[in-house]
Amino acid sequence: ETIDVETYVDRIMKKFNGLATDNQIELSFKKNIAEPNIIADPDRLEQVFTNLIDNAIRYTAENGFVKVYIESTTNEFHVTVEDNGSGIPEEDLPFVFERFYKADKARTRNKTKIGTGLGLAIAKNMIDIHQGIITVNSKMDQGTSFTFKIPQNNSD
Ligand code: ATP
Ligand code: MG
Repeated sequence: ETIDVETYVDRIMKKFNGLATDNQIELSFKKNIAEPNIIADPDRLEQVFTNLIDNAIRYTAENGFVKVYIESTTNEFHVTVEDNGSGIPEEDLPFVFERFYKADKARTRNKTKIGTGLGLAIAKNMIDIHQGIITVNSKMDQGTSFTFKIPQNNSD
C-alpha cells in the first residue's frame, strides 16, 4: 500500500505528545523526506513506531529526551528512535528481539504499565515481513537507539 510519509508520520508522532508530556520527556521529531511516498503496510509499520517510541518513553527517566529521526529516499525508509534513558546491558543486547525478554526490573524505571516483553519481538517480525532490518545500539545509563530500514524501490 502507498503511504504518504509526511501525513502518516505526523499523525503517529501526535499520538505520543500526551504520553511524553505525562512522563516529562522531551519528544522531538525530525524528518528528511526526499521521497514522499513509501510502500508498506501502514498498520504494521505503525505498530513498530508505537513499540519503539513507547519503550523509549517508558525506559527514560523524567527530564530525558526521545528523538525520532525519519528519512525517506527512493531506496529506503529509515527511522531512528533515540533516548537517553536506562540503556540495556551489553550482554543482553543480542536477546532484546526475543519474545519475553526483559532487562532486570531493578534497572528499569518503574512505570504503571508493566510490559510483557513482546513489543520488540513483534516489531522485529513486522520489519521482517517488509524485508527490512532493525538494529539496536545501547550504553548502560546513557541511552539506547533503535534503527529500522525498509527497502523501497521507487523507479522515479
Ligand atoms: P511490551 O512492549 O510487551 O509492553 P516490554 O517493553 O518489556 O513489554 P519489549 O518492548 O520487547 O518488551 O522490550 C524488551 C525489554 O528491552 C524491555 O523490558 C526493556 O528491558 C528493554 N528495552 C526496550 N527498549 C528499551 C529502551 N529504549 N531503553 C531501555 N531498555 C529498553
Ligand atoms: Mg515494549
